[in-house]
Amino acid sequence: MTARTALVVSAHSADFVWRAAGAIALHAAQGWAVTVVCLSYGERGESAKLWRQPGMTLERVKTEREREARAAASVLDVADIQFWDLGDYPINLSEAAFYRLVDLYRSLRPDFVLTHSKEDIYNHDHPAVTDFAQHARITAQAHGHNPHQKVLGAPPVFLFEPHQPEQCNWKPDVLLDISPVWAKKRAAIECMAGQEHLWEYYTRVALQRGAQAARNSDKAITYGEGYQSVFPHVVERLG
Ligand SMILES: [Zn+2]
Repeated sequence: MTARTALVVSAHSADFVWRAAGAIALHAAQGWAVTVVCLSYGERGESAKLWRQPGMTLERVKTEREREARAAASVLDVADIQFWDLGDYPINLSEAAFYRLVDLYRSLRPDFVLTHSKEDIYNHDHPAVTDFAQHARITAQAHGHNPHQKVLGAPPVFLFEPHQPEQCNWKPDVLLDISPVWAKKRAAIECMAGQEHLWEYYTRVALQRGAQAARNSDKAITYGEGYQSVFPHVVERLG
C-alpha cells in the first residue's frame, strides 16, 4: 500500500516549523509521506538575527536559512522538502510557480493541505501564499486543465495559526494533540537559530492550544496546534 500524503505550503522557510511541525511529525510517525514546499527563504523579512552579523549577504542568508530548514525537516521526518526561492517581502508568485504547484498537487495527490491564514496584517506574503496555494488546488481539480491527467480530489485545507491571530481574524476550529511529538517540534524549533526570539513564544502557543484541546475533550493533552479549516468536514458519524 502506498503511503498517505500531505502537502505543506510555507511562504518562508521557517513557517512550517512554528505553525505545523507538530502535524508534520505526527503524521510522519504514522507512516505518512509529508512534502513541504518553502516558496521562499524569508531572507529579507524573517532573518533579522542573521542580518545583524557583519558582512552578511543575501546569498549567505539564503544558504543559512536552507540549512536550518533542512535540519528541522530531518528532525520531523519530512519525506521531501523543496525550496522554490521566489523571494520575499514581497514574494514573487509567478505564473510558472503557480503551474508548478498545480503539477505537484496532481502528482502528490495529498490527503490534506496545510497553508497560511487568509489575513495577516503584519505579513502580506502569508495571505498571498494561501490564495496562491488554494487557487492552485482548485486548478488541479479542474477537468479542463491538462485533461489527459487524473484530476485532484478534494483534500481538506487547514490554515496555520498566524503570529497574532486576533489581528488576523483567524479562529481555530481544529485542535490537534501534538503532545506525543512535542520533543520533535521543540527540536525543530531550535534548528531556527536565526529566529531564537520565537522559540519560547511558540512553546507558549503550543501549551495554550494544548490546554484548550484538553478542555474541549476528555483527554490529557499538554501540547497542541490550532488550525482553521476552509471547507466543511465530511464525517461518517458525529461522535
Ligand atoms: Zn512567514
